[in-house]
Amino acid sequence: MSHVFPRHCHTDLPTAVSGDGCYLIDAEGRRYFDGSGGAAVSCLGHSNERVRAAIKAQVDALAYAHTSFFTSEPAEALADRLIARAPGDLDRVYFVSGGSEAVESAIKLARQYHLERGEPQRRHLIARRQSYHGNTLGALSAGGNAWRRAQFAPLLVEMSHIAPCYEYAERAEGESLHDYGQRTANALEAEILRLGPDSVMAFIAEPVVGATLGAVAAVPGYFTRIREICDRYGVLLILDEVMCGMGRTGHLFACEADGVAPDILCIAKGLGAGYQPIGAMLCSKAIYDAIAAGTGFFQHGHTYLGHPIAAAAALAVLEEFEEQDLIGRVSRLGPVFETLLRDQLGQHPHVGDIRGRGLFWGIELVEDRATKAPFDPARGLAGRVKRIAKSRGLLCYPMPGTRDGRLGDHILLAPPFIADETQLAEVAAVLKAAL
Ligand code: PMP
Repeated sequence: MSHVFPRHCHTDLPTAVSGDGCYLIDAEGRRYFDGSGGAAVSCLGHSNERVRAAIKAQVDALAYAHTSFFTSEPAEALADRLIARAPGDLDRVYFVSGGSEAVESAIKLARQYHLERGEPQRRHLIARRQSYHGNTLGALSAGGNAWRRAQFAPLLVEMSHIAPCYEYAERAEGESLHDYGQRTANALEAEILRLGPDSVMAFIAEPVVGATLGAVAAVPGYFTRIREICDRYGVLLILDEVMCGMGRTGHLFACEADGVAPDILCIAKGLGAGYQPIGAMLCSKAIYDAIAAGTGFFQHGHTYLGHPIAAAAALAVLEEFEEQDLIGRVSRLGPVFETLLRDQLGQHPHVGDIRGRGLFWGIELVEDRATKAPFDPARGLAGRVKRIAKSRGLLCYPMPGTRDGRLGDHILLAPPFIADETQLAEVAAVLKAAL
C-alpha cells in the first residue's frame, strides 16, 4: 500500500521510474509520450544532458545558502538572463519555488507597492472568471473557478472577477473580433469605476489561459486596451505566465505576441522544465524603486528563495533554448501541430474548437458540433479521453467543464519542444482514436 497522499484518493497510479526524451517509462516498462509535458512543465523532455550536468555541478559546488546571508552565482546569472529578455521595464527577479508562490508574491508585492506610496486603501484585486492562478489561499482567491473557490470561501475578500476574453463562447453574433476585444477589456474599466479607482491595486490575467479554458489567447487589441486602462487608473498589471510562458507559445514570454509589458510577470513550470521546482516574479523598476526608497524590505519570503540548484537548472534550460533554437522550433512546429490536429479532429462530432499558439493547444469538447452545446459535465468526457489515451501511451491534460454546465470539457496539449513531426502526428492520431 502506498503512503503517499495522492491528489485523487481513489486512483491507482503506475510508478514512473525513468524518462527518455519525450517519453516517461513506468515500472512495468510501459512508455508514455508526454503530450502535455505534465502540466506544461517538461519543455525539454525528460533526460536533457545539459540540465542534468548543471544540476550535478551545482550540487557539488553548493547546494543551498539562505538568501538573508548570500546571493549565489546561478541566481545572479539567471536573473540577468531573464531581465535581458524581459519586456518593458521589468528589472528585478524574485525567485520562488513554483507558480502559486510566484502569484502569491505578486499579490503581496502589488499591495506593498501601494502601501509604500501612501495609498493603503488600494487593496482590491481584479481577476477574470474561469482563470487559474494557483492553489495557495491568495492565489486561489485570484483564480476565477467558482467551484474551486466556493469550497474554501471566504477567501481574500477584496476580490472581483470579470469575464475572460473567450471569443469562442462569448463573442456576439456579427460582432467584429476587434469590437469584442475592446468590449471585454472595457469590463475592467467598468469594474474599476464601480469599486472606486482609488481602491484597486492590481488586475491579474493569463495572456493565454491554460488549465481552465485550454490555451485560449485574447483577441488582438484586448491586452493593449487592458494596459491603457491600468495606466489610466494607476492599477498594476500582473500577467500570470506560469503555464503559457517560457517559450511555450513560440515567444519566451507569451505577452510579447500581444505587444504589452506588465508591471509584474509570474513564471514557473517551463522555467525549471521539471528538473527543479522553481518559479519567479519579475517586477518593474518603478515597483522595486518604491520598495527600496520606502521600507527597503519586501515583507514576504520563503526558505527556498533563489535556490542555487534550481537556479542552475533554469539557467541550463535557457542555455538549451538558445543553443538549440528551441523557441524558433516551437514557432515552426506550431502551425504543423495545428494542421495535424485539425486534420485528425477538426471534423469530429464532439470537437467544437481547436485553438492555441506554438506548442500549446486546447481541444474543446462539445455535445453537439453544430450548436456547440457543452458536453454534460456529469459525463466527464475529458477524463475518459485522458484515461483511454493513457492506455494507448499518450499523456494529455483534461479539464472538466464548469459544474453549472455553461462551459464544457477540454483537453490541453503541451508537448516537449524537442518533439518531432512524426511524434506530433501520433499525438493527433491517438487522440482521435481515444475520442
Ligand atoms: N498560474 C497558472 C496560470 C497555472 O497554470 C498554475 C498551475 N497550473 C499556477 C499558477 C500554479 O502553479 P503551481 O502549481 O506551480 O503552484
